[in-house]
Amino acid sequence: MADIVNQIREAGVVGAGGAGFPTHVKSGSKVEFVLANGAECEPLLHKDYELMLLKAKEMVEGMMMMIESTGAKKGYFGIKSKNALAIEAVKAAIGSHPIEITELGDFYPSGDEYELVYLATGRLIPAGGIPLDVGCVVNNVETLMNVRRAADEKPVTEKFLCVAGAVKNPSAFFVPIGTPAKEVIELAGGSTEPEYSVFNGGLMMGKLMTNLDEPVTKTTAGFIVLPKKHQLVFRMGQPEENWHRIGKSACDQCTYCTEFCPRYLLGYNVQPHKVMRSLQFTATGAGYWNQMAELCSGCGLCTLYACPEDLFPREACDQSKRQMRLEGVKYVQTHPVKIHPMKEGRKVPLKMLMKKLNVSHLAADTPFVDVDYRPKEVVIKLKQAVGEPSEPKVALRDRVAKGDVIATIPEGKLGSTIHASISGTVVDVNKEFIRILNN
Ligand code: SF4
Ligand code: SF4
Repeated sequence: MADIVNQIREAGVVGAGGAGFPTHVKSGSKVEFVLANGAECEPLLHKDYELMLLKAKEMVEGMMMMIESTGAKKGYFGIKSKNALAIEAVKAAIGSHPIEITELGDFYPSGDEYELVYLATGRLIPAGGIPLDVGCVVNNVETLMNVRRAADEKPVTEKFLCVAGAVKNPSAFFVPIGTPAKEVIELAGGSTEPEYSVFNGGLMMGKLMTNLDEPVTKTTAGFIVLPKKHQLVFRMGQPEENWHRIGKSACDQCTYCTEFCPRYLLGYNVQPHKVMRSLQFTATGAGYWNQMAELCSGCGLCTLYACPEDLFPREACDQSKRQMRLEGVKYVQTHPVKIHPMKEGRKVPLKMLMKKLNVSHLAADTPFVDVDYRPKEVVIKLKQAVGEPSEPKVALRDRVAKGDVIATIPEGKLGSTIHASISGTVVDVNKEFIRILNN
C-alpha cells in the first residue's frame, strides 16, 4: 500500500480537474468510497468525455489502486447520462470490479464534489468539510489514469485538454506540461476570429487570460476561445473595482443569486445576496455578511446565470473569503445541512446556461487528435498544485531527459514532485518556473 502512495507522490500526480490537490495524500487516507468525477459540466469543454473513451481501462485500474490503498469497499464513476459512449466504455472496463456508475443529469454544476458525493452515496458533507469527513475521496477521471501510470513509474509530464469555441478544429489532445497556450490554440487550427480572447479552464470557473504565453499546467482542463467583442469577455474583463462599485449601487436584494445557488439548495448557508450587502454596509455589517460566502464553491452561477442585473455576487463572495482569511475568521454553520425543498426544481440545465452565456452556437464535439506535439521550449511552473511551490533540483545549462525530476516537494510540506516534460537544456531557473529548451 505504502508503495502505491509513494509511487503516486514520486510521479507528481495531482487532481487534474480542479485546484490540483496532491493525490498521494488522498491515496494515503482511509475511506469507504472512492469517487471518480467525470461530470465535466463546464460549457463547451469535453476533455474528460474524450479521455473516458480513450483510457477507460487505465482509469478503472487507477480507481482499483485507490480503492486498495484507501481500504474502500466500493467505487463510483460519476458520468452524465448524455455521455452514453463514455458510460459504455467505462462499464466494459469495470467488469466485475466493485465499481458502480452514478448517472448524472445534464445540469450545472453536477461536478461540484459536494453534489457528486451526495448523488453517489446519499451523504452530505458537513458544512465546511471535505469528502473525507463522510468517508469519501473524489478524483477527476484523468487523475485516475495518472495513478495507473504512476504504478508503472510514469510521471505526469503531459496534460490532456481540449480547445473549444471559436477555433477551426475544436479538439482534444495531450500536450507536454509547460506548452504555451497560444501554441495549444494553434494545434486546434487557430481562432476563426481575427480578434479573440481566451478563457483558461472554462467559462464559469476558469479565468479570462491576459497573456497567451501562459503555460499549460497539471490542472489545465482546456482553453475556450471567444470573439473579443463577446459579452463574457466584456463582463469578465472589467477591473475588480468595477464589479464591486456596480454591485454597491445596483443590487436590489432580489435574492435570485441565493435562490439559484447550488450550495444553498444543498443546505449550506451560502447567501450571496447577503454577501452583496457587505459592499453596501461596509462600516457596520461586513464582518457578518462575509460569513455567508465561506461555503461558496465559486461555481459562478449567481454571477453568470441568476443575477438579472448582471452583477458580480460570486466575485463579492471571493472578496469576502479573502477578507475572512486575512482576519483569521472561520465561519461555522451551526444549523444542520438539509436539502432545500426546491432543489430539484431549481437545477440549471446546461442548455439554458449556454443560452444565457450566448455560446450555444459554439457547441461542438472536441474529438481526440493524436498530435504528438514537440514544443521548442516549455515553461514549467513550480506551483501547480495545492500546497507549497516545489524546490528546483536543476541548475542553469543542465541537460535533462523527459521524465527527470526537476523539482521536489519541500520537506514536510504539501505539494507535488515536478518532472521535465521534454528533453533539453535548462535555460532559466527561478522561484516561479523552470524553462527547458528543446535542443
Ligand atoms: S441576484 Fe443580483 S440584484 Fe439580485 S440580490 Fe443577487 S446580486 Fe443583487
Ligand atoms: S458562486 Fe454563487 S452560485 Fe456558486 S456557490 Fe458561490 S454563491 Fe453559490
